[in-house]
Amino acid sequence: MSTTTYETSPAIPSQELLDRNLKYAENHKGKVGEENWGHFPKTAIITCMDCRLHPQKQLGLADSDTTIIRNGGGSVHELIRSILITQNFGTRHFVLIKHTDCGYFNTTKTEIIKGFKAHAKDPNAIDAVADKIGDDSPKLSIDKFVLRDVEYLRESPLIYPDTKVTGWAFDDRTGKIRQVA
Ligand SMILES: [Zn+2]
Repeated sequence: MSTTTYETSPAIPSQELLDRNLKYAENHKGKVGEENWGHFPKTAIITCMDCRLHPQKQLGLADSDTTIIRNGGGSVHELIRSILITQNFGTRHFVLIKHTDCGYFNTTKTEIIKGFKAHAKDPNAIDAVADKIGDDSPKLSIDKFVLRDVEYLRESPLIYPDTKVTGWAFDDRTGKIRQVA
């Protein structure tokens, strides 16, 4: 069982967040890009919550070009509500991006539960939701992870017939994104 401990950034104090927001707000214009937002982006990126992923920056996109849907691993199985809502608003292309060395796919359900029990107020609280924690760590290559989720979406009856699904892999060593499907 992996016992890898990742170094985490120190928690950012709330006051610092407020200060940074004030600085941002100095130049904020209400309804930025209203002319764009009148037309909901046709493209939505689905990707991992990992801080190494900056899809708009890494693909040279403006804020208004895409919707971004994120969770651990960019796991489409957990995103059905978001996928339905964006399609209702106008999304017709899902760009699914996974990345190298993704912790989501390298952590087993047993490890998640063990980690929780080591730190929780009530170690047994997780038992009530244990069946909702998928065991999504089949040790596949990144390309196979991408293909698996792309196929899941393409075959899903919840994807509109005119919605396109493509799959991509981000390599953190090079910064490059390549199309897999
Ligand atoms: Zn990840």
